[in-house]
Amino acid sequence: MCGIVAYLGNKSAYPIMIKGLQRLEYRGYDSAGVALLNGSLTIIRRKGKVKDLEDFAVGKNLSGTVGIGHTRWATHGKPDDRNAHPHLSGNGRLTLVHNGIIENYDTLKKALEKLGHVFHSETDTEVLVHLIEEIQTRDNLVIEEAVRVALQKVVGAYAIVVIDKEDPDKLVAARKASPLVIGIGTDDFYIASDATPIVEYTKKVVYLNDEEIAVVKKDGSLQIFTISNEMQKPHIQQLDMELERLEKEGFDYFMLKEIHEQPRTIADGMRGRMNAEEGWIRLGGVAEYVNKMSKAQRFIIVACGTSWHAGLIAEYLFEDLARIPVEVEYASEFRYRNPIITENDVVIALSQSGETADTMAALEMAKEKGALIYGLVNVVGSSIARLTDAGSYIHAGPEIGVASTKAFTGQLTLLTLMALKLAYLKGTITNSYFHELLTELENIPAKIGKILQNAEQIEYIAGEFKGASNALYLGRGYNFPVALEGALKLKEISYIHAEGYPAAEMKHGPIALIDENMPVIVIANNKSAYEKIVSNIQEVKARRGVVIAIVEEGDEVIKHIADYTIEIPATEEPLSPLLSVIPLQLFAYYIAILRGCNVDQPRNLAKSVTVE
Ligand code: GLU
Repeated sequence: MCGIVAYLGNKSAYPIMIKGLQRLEYRGYDSAGVALLNGSLTIIRRKGKVKDLEDFAVGKNLSGTVGIGHTRWATHGKPDDRNAHPHLSGNGRLTLVHNGIIENYDTLKKALEKLGHVFHSETDTEVLVHLIEEIQTRDNLVIEEAVRVALQKVVGAYAIVVIDKEDPDKLVAARKASPLVIGIGTDDFYIASDATPIVEYTKKVVYLNDEEIAVVKKDGSLQIFTISNEMQKPHIQQLDMELERLEKEGFDYFMLKEIHEQPRTIADGMRGRMNAEEGWIRLGGVAEYVNKMSKAQRFIIVACGTSWHAGLIAEYLFEDLARIPVEVEYASEFRYRNPIITENDVVIALSQSGETADTMAALEMAKEKGALIYGLVNVVGSSIARLTDAGSYIHAGPEIGVASTKAFTGQLTLLTLMALKLAYLKGTITNSYFHELLTELENIPAKIGKILQNAEQIEYIAGEFKGASNALYLGRGYNFPVALEGALKLKEISYIHAEGYPAAEMKHGPIALIDENMPVIVIANNKSAYEKIVSNIQEVKARRGVVIAIVEEGDEVIKHIADYTIEIPATEEPLSPLLSVIPLQLFAYYIAILRGCNVDQPRNLAKSVTVE
């Protein structure tokens, strides 16, 4: 997690740092800080948000055309001023920002303390800057060489940018398992954790690879070499990102904007990849491996958080439509339990950011064991996109709100297309059903548009439950994972405790919790098992529970039993999660707003989980 931004050139660095940190704030907001080089080093660090840093900086010397900045998601040491980055070396010569975890920091720290180093923070990061200092002074090395030698001693994950006050015309950056992008301007350089702080200045970028070190200099040169000292040729790429997409466009929060963007982002995800009238699906990333995929012994989907919920829905899609056995795994568990993976498996990674540390590690393991690895990510050029044999981008555009919305429906859209493609090739569904589903998929954006028009009703219902302390979400079949996702959305942004369950499981425990204070949100737009869902609602009502039901337009039965019904358009069952999740996103959003929460930056969370 955490966001890093750095600048070297002729412009004033401070405003570039602040703007960049604001764009990266979704990655962490425990503290923010900048270091500016202006003959001497100015370091300003503050607990809290970038805004707090800005207020604190008023009246200070903010000059300098070289700078590094950081917005922190604390892993080692509490979020306070002292632990905020940038961190300074003992001799005051070096300063660095770091994203990741130095796993052997304790051993290194003890060794450095023996050599007389004194530490002022609890972070692993401060150990790294002292280590570089120790090596630099001991062996009298230029900064990039000292960084290289130091990183050989480090176990863990890092993206760093270092300033050496005595070598003021350069910045040194390095990465391993945490992302870093270098933007090449006309006569300057921008470095950041993702491309969002860079795009307004230049579209020419280089994505740094693991164990690579980059040196950018004021003379315009960019040099990349590995930790084992092999020179690398920078691979310059063109950014495909529009600045406007990074703004709120009149919405109060990014999350609300992103919820409302879904008709467009889903259409973008399908564009050029299918044609219902002509009856084809073409997924660039799948084409080459389609044979292997359709013959796969099983699919293993690895993911975390909301992406894991998308994976659970994919399990229904692939098994139901393409008759491929699927296992869905939490990446963090999968990688540590010695799983059985063979060359006949296809491992699919789902990750919005394409940087999720656990998912990356799970993929690396699967790759080693010979499985075909496939990535479904949103962020173009991200680590997972580069690691996988094949993959597809979901084309949802930058997702800034920490709670994922449009990336989730983007993942579902692509997973549906994959399942349909494989089902078609394997002949596991009829031609007419294939056509029906494709045609209906094209209708989904308009149907979501219709649900969004109903936001006011959902806001009203949210108002009725803003004081709840618990909530239960129930769904069946394709909509069971939607129940999990609805509960997660509510938890993460409104801090109301919520659980998702398969509706029938309610009787095996959660029913004990139901009373008149417990809102029970039932996703009841399934066509199959409809009667069973109705019975489940009756069971809740019999225990004085309060039911909010998501139903198909025109449903007269549930309307008479539930306390509140939210109608959504009818659709084919495999596509129903794409619709049923929308009211749940809005419900969580409005409750959180009514409770005065910052929905874009919920406490303790960060968007891109680049640490284990
Ligand atoms: N481990 C470092 C810290 O706790 C960096 C965390 C981050 O990536 O924000 O300060």
